[in-house]
Amino acid sequence: MKKIDLLSGLSKRELVELDACTRCGNCVQWCPVVTAREDQGNTPMEKLRKYREMVQDAHGLRARLFGPRVDEEKLEKFAQELYECTTCGRCGAVCPVGIHCQELWVDVRAIMRRQGYGPQEKIDAARDILEEVHNPFDLPMEERNRWIPEGLEIAEEAELAFFVGCELAYKAKEMPLGAVRLLEASGIPYTLLEEEWCCGFPPYVLGERGRVFRGEVEKNVEGLKAKGVKKVAPYCPCCLAVMRRGWPEVVDVPFQVVHLLEVLSDAVREGRLAFTKPFEARVTYHDPCYLSRGWGDGEELTREPREIIRSIPGVELVEMEHNRKLSLCPGAGGGLRRTNLELSHDMSVPVLKEAEETGAEVLLTACPAVYERFKMTVSEGIYRPKLKVMDILEFAAAQL
Ligand code: SF4
Ligand code: SF4
Repeated sequence: MKKIDLLSGLSKRELVELDACTRCGNCVQWCPVVTAREDQGNTPMEKLRKYREMVQDAHGLRARLFGPRVDEEKLEKFAQELYECTTCGRCGAVCPVGIHCQELWVDVRAIMRRQGYGPQEKIDAARDILEEVHNPFDLPMEERNRWIPEGLEIAEEAELAFFVGCELAYKAKEMPLGAVRLLEASGIPYTLLEEEWCCGFPPYVLGERGRVFRGEVEKNVEGLKAKGVKKVAPYCPCCLAVMRRGWPEVVDVPFQVVHLLEVLSDAVREGRLAFTKPFEARVTYHDPCYLSRGWGDGEELTREPREIIRSIPGVELVEMEHNRKLSLCPGAGGGLRRTNLELSHDMSVPVLKEAEETGAEVLLTACPAVYERFKMTVSEGIYRPKLKVMDILEFAAAQL
């Protein structure tokens, strides 16, 4: 009889969560995937029910007495459904008993991956690319530092390291360029890794936690240690999330992890960073899932970006209907662009429409995945909003 293990790797909290759902239905109303799909069979609430049932079949009293019941078809279908989730955390933000599916599903993906269910080929391919070139885009390592402008002075060693991340280094280059201009203007000494590898978020969130994930993390941690770093500041919210949750699972992390917007908003508050060029217009801001909600009880990093935006003279910041902990997810995260691009496309449109409804001329983002997601929505003609999409670092650096 086939052996099955559906519990190893879950924390005590997650084991309790599996049994805690009251079936109130809040998560169903707030899940952006359910809204986009209109599929009541694959809600967070239903996934919890299905997984609990399968755990019962594999580990319950009956399974102990007569052996586990393994329904291959049911397991495979469930494993596929697990990837129809962007791990945005909205369900966790509204759940009255505090069930955080955004984390639970990521750990259940790791379990299903170990058991051989789910989109194995896609995950194998993503893992192999990462092992080869240390970024998820299959681009050469030699191109990673091409964003660095000529003459940029970077300290060899410093207490603060700016962790660039793959999406900034290869795709959204406006972001690292804005970041270094703002750090320079603040007079904050910082260093960078000359040979930075992927943070490991893409395999981690897909449930691949083996040798390749560990290798990426170890390489970065060793490099940062060698530079005497005490504080690491990524900008990408996914880098931040995996550094705080995933890195300590495989290595000892001997430094603090903060978000770059925390560093910059401190500089604004202390008067070290000021903007001189006014921007006389209305802007709105989209809270990225992993900054406003994060994993676990959430990051709640919502004040810092607003402080920076409001410190720019002339700017009128207007809020989108759904903001902070309840911001809409545009379908950029959780590996969805890799596993279900069509769903990711569909999810991006309501966010752009909601931003337009504010009457703003500019929509500011603080997540490279979201920024790239919107760019793709426009370039592929899926939806063309009547406002400009800019990253907060790019926008702020232009007002120095
Ligand atoms: S994390 Fe987001 S996409 Fe996933 S189940 Fe919860 S609300 Fe839905
Ligand atoms: S919000 Fe929480 S308790 Fe309510 S149905 Fe969803 S998971 Fe269950």
